[in-house]
Amino acid sequence: LAEKLQNTLHKLKGKGKVNEKDVNDAMREVKMALLEADVNFKVVKDFVNKVKERAIGAEVLESLTPGQQIIKIVNDELTILMGTTQSKINFSSKPPTVIMLVGLQGAGKTTTGGKLAKLIKKQGKRPLLIAADIYRPAAIKQLQVVGGQVDVPVFSMGDKQNPVDIAKAGLEHAISNGNDVIIVDTAGRLHIDDELMGELQSIKSNIKPHEILLVVDSMTGQDAVNVAEHFNEKLGIDGVILTKLDGDTRGGAALSVRAVTNKPIKFAALGEKLDDIEIFHPDRMASRILGMGDVLSLIEKAQANFDEKKAKELENKIKTQSFTFDDFLDQLQQMKNMGPISQLLEMIPGAGKQLKGLEVNEKELVHIQAIIQSMTKQERQNPSLLNGSRRKRIAAGSGTSVQQVNRLLKQFEQTRKMMKQFADMDKGVKKGGKFK
Ligand code: GDP
Ligand code: MG
Repeated sequence: LAEKLQNTLHKLKGKGKVNEKDVNDAMREVKMALLEADVNFKVVKDFVNKVKERAIGAEVLESLTPGQQIIKIVNDELTILMGTTQSKINFSSKPPTVIMLVGLQGAGKTTTGGKLAKLIKKQGKRPLLIAADIYRPAAIKQLQVVGGQVDVPVFSMGDKQNPVDIAKAGLEHAISNGNDVIIVDTAGRLHIDDELMGELQSIKSNIKPHEILLVVDSMTGQDAVNVAEHFNEKLGIDGVILTKLDGDTRGGAALSVRAVTNKPIKFAALGEKLDDIEIFHPDRMASRILGMGDVLSLIEKAQANFDEKKAKELENKIKTQSFTFDDFLDQLQQMKNMGPISQLLEMIPGAGKQLKGLEVNEKELVHIQAIIQSMTKQERQNPSLLNGSRRKRIAAGSGTSVQQVNRLLKQFEQTRKMMKQFADMDKGVKKGGKFK
């Protein structure tokens, strides 16, 4: 599908203003992408209409085609829809902060409880996990294991007590033990049911949570909408945690859930391990849903951070293939302003795969800079001068090893080659030829 989208984009190259036909063409693809990502149909419809309105007649930014411009608008709107800012946990000024995890059975509440406890502990707090799921066999044991793994105490009273009483007693225990955050792991059901809702409401009114977080399995796609709507209506949630994003889901649930509840998605869980959680990034999710890599973030970041003139110069260099180590250094500098390199490389469609093995990390960057700075002017302009003894000198001068110097030279060659490919591709398009 991403390919289809690309084709549409290329067809649209070279126009000044977005017209209705551009929009209709592009939006058909967008609609498909959204539905394929399992976004709720009604949400798709509303969304598409909104974007159409905004897109028709929009000025096309100089560096984009109308098609790209539309997709940029789509991406912007998606990001806005999912929350433009990252929202974290609101800690109470009067501890303990009470967090209640709710959701269907198997959504990932217990696991997420452990993950959150770990995160919160890392922030210097003293969390307590409370085992209030008395129904699922071995649920208490599971939480105890998880708690043990992250070295966070677990409060439990077995499965003979009422969950409301457990939650209340847990809160008191936290107060008398100086725990400043409690995370209550509640029971779920396979389906929404009134009895469960009643229990959760009762827990809520007894321990007055600062955060009721709905844990949603991102693989459940369309169903997520009903679940979120229902929990929000009956219980009033403060935010959502989306789990199992490590699966092959495109994450449409995020969009649907956000749209129907209007509550922020606070965290994304990306695996079974207790480290596999991160703050939710609406922009990344938008691109994931659109299924086109982080192309647009790249476009945007490039627009925001690249010095226009330098970009032009670079373009010329790529075209004339006179890209040197000085330029490479320049690029690294600019990329550094844009965020982690690895992320950036992943964003480049096609390039991501080719560059996977390169593994440029931030620390290496410092080395790379040192290496280039240890080269003479001639060497930077003409890397073929770099024989064995020169490499040794550079390694010594930059505090690196000859292997590191060799690796960089190889990376540089690969980058050059890739740039040549991009340049050729661009020529192909300009001539009206198909790009392959
Ligand atoms: P609960 O019933 O809501 O408490 O759900 P659990 O925490 O017991 O999780 C149900 C299953 O989903 C377990 O096997 C977890 O290991 C798994 N799980 C939870 N979160 C994630 C996640 O982010 N990714 C993956 N792949 N599995 C997860
Ligand atoms: Mg559980």
